[in-house]
Amino acid sequence: MIGIVVVSHSAALAAAALELAQQMVPRDDVRVAVAAGTPDGGLGTDAARVAAAIDEVASPDGVLVFVDLGSAVMSAELGLELRESVAPVRVTSAPLVEGLVAALVTAAAGAPLETVAREARGSLAAKEEHLGDTPVGRRRPNAEQAVPARIDARLETTPATARTLTLVNPAGLHARPAATLAAELASFDATVRLTNRRTGATVPDASSMSALLTLGARQGDELEASAAGADAATALARLESLVADGFGEAPMVEERGGTARLETVRKDIDYGLAISPGAAVGPVVRMPEPILEPPADATLPESERASAAASLAPAFTEVRAGLTRRAERLTDERFRDARAVLTATAALADDPALATEAAELVTRLGAPPARAVWLVLGALAELLATQGGPMAERAADVRDLRARVIARLQGELEPGLPDRTEPFVLVVDELAPADAALLGTTPCVALVTRSGAPTSHTAILARSIGLPAVVWPSARELRDGDIVLVDGVRGEVVVDPSQERVAQASARPDLVPFDGVGRTADGRRVELLANVSGGDDAAAASRAEGVGLFRTEFAFLDRHDAPSAADQTVAYREVFAAFRGRRVVVRTLDAGSDKPLAFLAGPREQNPALGVRGYRTAHAHPDVLDAQLAAIAAAARAERADAWVMAPMIATAAEARQFVARCRPHGFASVGVMIETPAAALCAAEILAEVDFVSLGTNDLAQYATAADRQLAPLADLTDAWQPAVLRLIRLVGEAGAAAGKPVSLCGEAGGDPALAPVLVGLGVTSLSMAPQALDEVAASLGAVAFEQCVAAAAAAAAAPGPREARAAAASVLAK
Ligand code: PEP
Ligand code: MG
Repeated sequence: MIGIVVVSHSAALAAAALELAQQMVPRDDVRVAVAAGTPDGGLGTDAARVAAAIDEVASPDGVLVFVDLGSAVMSAELGLELRESVAPVRVTSAPLVEGLVAALVTAAAGAPLETVAREARGSLAAKEEHLGDTPVGRRRPNAEQAVPARIDARLETTPATARTLTLVNPAGLHARPAATLAAELASFDATVRLTNRRTGATVPDASSMSALLTLGARQGDELEASAAGADAATALARLESLVADGFGEAPMVEERGGTARLETVRKDIDYGLAISPGAAVGPVVRMPEPILEPPADATLPESERASAAASLAPAFTEVRAGLTRRAERLTDERFRDARAVLTATAALADDPALATEAAELVTRLGAPPARAVWLVLGALAELLATQGGPMAERAADVRDLRARVIARLQGELEPGLPDRTEPFVLVVDELAPADAALLGTTPCVALVTRSGAPTSHTAILARSIGLPAVVWPSARELRDGDIVLVDGVRGEVVVDPSQERVAQASARPDLVPFDGVGRTADGRRVELLANVSGGDDAAAASRAEGVGLFRTEFAFLDRHDAPSAADQTVAYREVFAAFRGRRVVVRTLDAGSDKPLAFLAGPREQNPALGVRGYRTAHAHPDVLDAQLAAIAAAARAERADAWVMAPMIATAAEARQFVARCRPHGFASVGVMIETPAAALCAAEILAEVDFVSLGTNDLAQYATAADRQLAPLADLTDAWQPAVLRLIRLVGEAGAAAGKPVSLCGEAGGDPALAPVLVGLGVTSLSMAPQALDEVAASLGAVAFEQCVAAAAAAAAAPGPREARAAAASVLAK
């Protein structure tokens, strides 16, 4: 085992760095010596002490010498000359703290000097990647880039094993568990590969601690693990037990997340959470598992290569046929974008060069067909991505094709939304907004997710297409083909429901349809508007009085580059056309957090909901905001629309002022901001002095007021807009709006709650914007009460101690 020497100007610094590093290594078996400070206890380095330290830990395996700065390097080099031992010695430029940690861990695992030195040098990777300042030329190759170079070398014959593990320890895979894991795995004759399903980051060899840190794995993250080598199964078993045990870290009682969180759900509630109303019955179809990278370590014997290569062309053909079938079924004009994507991907699958290139890898190198497809299409996707512009958009299609062909080759289901012609209930752990946006193109009749909450964006999208949806903690227990009732009002999923239960869920009170003019019983006008995310649902929402929130970011979730002015103008015109002459409030891109837009993404953040999202992205990308404003203005002119614009995630009056200044040159008469941070609500008067109107985003307002993630089902009671704290913040804004004589709209999901509508009006909200399906019930609820009752209900609800009491208090006032 190698020895380690620390050369530092300060004895205290060396001791502290060492103490920190030794925390990571449970065993005390790496010999470390320190040469720090001058003999009289001052600051400085001394070559003779360095030589003595090297001799102290020298062994035939070698010595790695760390240095702090400046003259420490010279002292170390001189020390090398003065030493008596003959062991190989390397002086490393690795950073002292991270490098020492990495070196101790790797050395403790018995790695040779070169490996330890390499790990130490690479130890800044996690920090660099996290902070986004990886030096050019030293970027960690991602798996796809790295693999082609290694293909020849890694074609071994050992089969791989795979499994999915959920991190339970509260602080995720931070330095200590990463160190433990790297050290443990290094002792097996196996290469373990890990992929974080949330971030997509992959580590080809998990015995490197610094690489493990780049996974950015947090509590609750699912890690895909696969292993190859003689000890593959044992290594995975050990990995599994370490992860299950939380790496020996005590769970924090107040921490909620990941598996622990879900267990809490199971214990606390044996029912689900209604996230989109309605009811439907149908057979369960589970979302297929994502396709993982096929192992790089298998080689086909010569005798099998020809038949394996021959399997490629039919797989491409089957995928093409499936995609074409799907595209042909989407005859409705609303689905023309989805149809265009499917047709383009089918055309790609039709390119015989792809199958031929993959077949060559099979015959020449013995790569299994799935591996060959992974490499060929991966290289193509990389190439397209680096070209930028519309070419880069196609990279996602190529990756999609790759996954589909591999699924066919492996006899698995093609990934993505299931290809069905009959009605089904989709069951999925968590649905990405990009998939949710396409649900309307399938015959899916209801959605069951294992995680999510009423104000999560998946729920919002489900509601916008009228799809009943429930968060059901036991979703994984539902099997393909089970007949289930999804009751999106009660928040229940019933397997094999009785006819009575189905009838009960489907019973809807007779509702008078919304007549197009929102008002209270005594005639006070409250405009009832729709929330839309594009032309499709705008067309379906046209009975609303206008659009109170056009979430423009939903139109561009799949884009790698900022959409062109032409693309944007087309998207905005579709919405304006559906509401010609009526108000359409267009929100500028609200990127970040759970709605990431690749072209506005910055360095990875620990707390994306508190990070650079919404209007904050305009600081780094002012050009994107200006281009969007220009496109909205052009589209509004072309459609003669009454276009209002507003900015998301405003916290200060200064931000509101800046936004207004950027909008006016484009000729917008009505410029506003969203009030979705407590700071903005508290400063509503100052903000209203800058803008023409405000719109309350209660989804985020509740999240930030109660410090509870709006995506977490177990915290849904906190992010409930009926929370008195939220109601009181709304009241502040309502009062400020009345004082300023300016409109106070509300466009969070609370706007579609018929019981809450009178309370919101009583708090000073002048228009409500909601999923179009809620219009009838909200209109009926307001039409049944007088404005004075609304004011009294608002006072009672805001004075209540909690949401349940607030609901009861409002209901009792309104029933009088
Ligand atoms: C809100 O936060 O209430 C809102 C309307 O914006 P989004 O849900 O898109 O974040
Ligand atoms: Mg919001």
